[in-house]
Amino acid sequence: MSEPLFRWKDTIVALATPLGLGAIGIIRISGPASFNIINTLFPSKDLLQQASHTLHIGWIVFNHKPLDEVVISLFKNPRSYTGEDVVEISCHGSMYIIDSIMQACIQLGARIAKPGEFTQQAFLNGKMDLAQAEAVADLIASDNATSHRLAMHQMRGGFSEKIKLLREELIKFAALIELELDFAEEDVQFANRTVLKTLLISVLDTINPLIDSFQLGNVLKKGVPVAIIGKPNAGKSTLLNALLQEEKAIVSEVPGTTRDVIEDIINIEGIAFRLMDTAGLRQTTDKVEQIGVQKTIEKMASAYLILYLFDATKESITQAKQQLETYKQQYKEAKILCIANKVDLLDALNVFDDCFHTISAKKNIGIVELKASMLGAVKHTSISDTTVTNIRHYEALLKAKEALRSVLTGITQSTTSDFLAIDIRQALHYLGEITGQISNEDLLDYIFSKFCIGK
Ligand code: GDP
Repeated sequence: MSEPLFRWKDTIVALATPLGLGAIGIIRISGPASFNIINTLFPSKDLLQQASHTLHIGWIVFNHKPLDEVVISLFKNPRSYTGEDVVEISCHGSMYIIDSIMQACIQLGARIAKPGEFTQQAFLNGKMDLAQAEAVADLIASDNATSHRLAMHQMRGGFSEKIKLLREELIKFAALIELELDFAEEDVQFANRTVLKTLLISVLDTINPLIDSFQLGNVLKKGVPVAIIGKPNAGKSTLLNALLQEEKAIVSEVPGTTRDVIEDIINIEGIAFRLMDTAGLRQTTDKVEQIGVQKTIEKMASAYLILYLFDATKESITQAKQQLETYKQQYKEAKILCIANKVDLLDALNVFDDCFHTISAKKNIGIVELKASMLGAVKHTSISDTTVTNIRHYEALLKAKEALRSVLTGITQSTTSDFLAIDIRQALHYLGEITGQISNEDLLDYIFSKFCIGK
């Protein structure tokens, strides 16, 4: 059972900084009782008489026991993150102090906030639309310049604006078509079909690039998956190390990945590349190892970029090209860079044509150029402000597209207004779901449950 919609009338409290020992901890309280709660805990000054957006230093005292000297920030509604009365308590970062203050707040009527509940309230109070609220979670999770930039754009509302404008235009037509339903007997057309068709095409023209941007958007947000493939001894591990070498400071193993597929992250000009170590990929009869190999193969199928490496001292260009063709069939979705390795052992390099990279993974020759190409493989499509990174938006756009195409087909086949109306309503519904103009409790619960507590 969903909870009643008026639950935001509660006053909620949570630690906004990470759990654990820190110099300071920030406790956030939001809701109608927040000012009264803090006023009870802060005896040295009447905080109810203070202006919004002011800071106050003093002691938190509960049940005659001083707990900590803190700084209080006051934000009166509606000029706060949530749109409610908000108080932030900056206390010393001891878990005992934080716990004691939170317990005091709870005893005075607040309850612990759910994950994302502050942002959910901001949405419910019209402080931001749904896509912007979701961008807050993305911003917190962003760990490279590109994911940061994408989240910032979405948070500023660029993406939502576009969807809202499209929807408004469609609503005008929906109204005219609905009007036709009232006059069904008379067989009149208020909505000019030619103009509607032009509008639908222009809406589809706007939606399609958004849909197309998802693959890249999603990849950029999470880090571009890269697989290094090639025969044993081609130099894959050596190349992996060469790519990682200058990156020692920021290289990390992705937490949560299984031991079957190890991933290292390198950052090239702000874009994260997740290098999958497929060096262990080989024929094996060992059952456990086979599972590992299978997982690696599956993972490689998700690669956006493939570095196909061959030993230039052992293989001819013709052989390499044949192998390349096989890989192209096998990895249809991926971009493949073909790399001739061990060129330090060759006398002449001019035997290679432009489609090959020539490197020596061991001697660090051609690595800078290779990195530039890796970057080029994702940058060729420019990252626009309206790149879709959220799978929920992507799915809603796909469904909207389907509905819009049905309307188009309907017009071409002179379908009656009632059927057109159904499809237009559907398209409006899905577009509205992105910005939250159409939303339901379950959807909101789902979205905000993915946030961290305190946000
Ligand atoms: P993998 O099986 O594809 O992972 O290949 P390795 O990275 O283990 O390399 C196989 C052998 O080739 C090792 O002895 C490496 O030192 C050597 N090797 C790799 N890259 C180069 C290179 O660019 N030049 C030379 N001369 N040897 C290399």
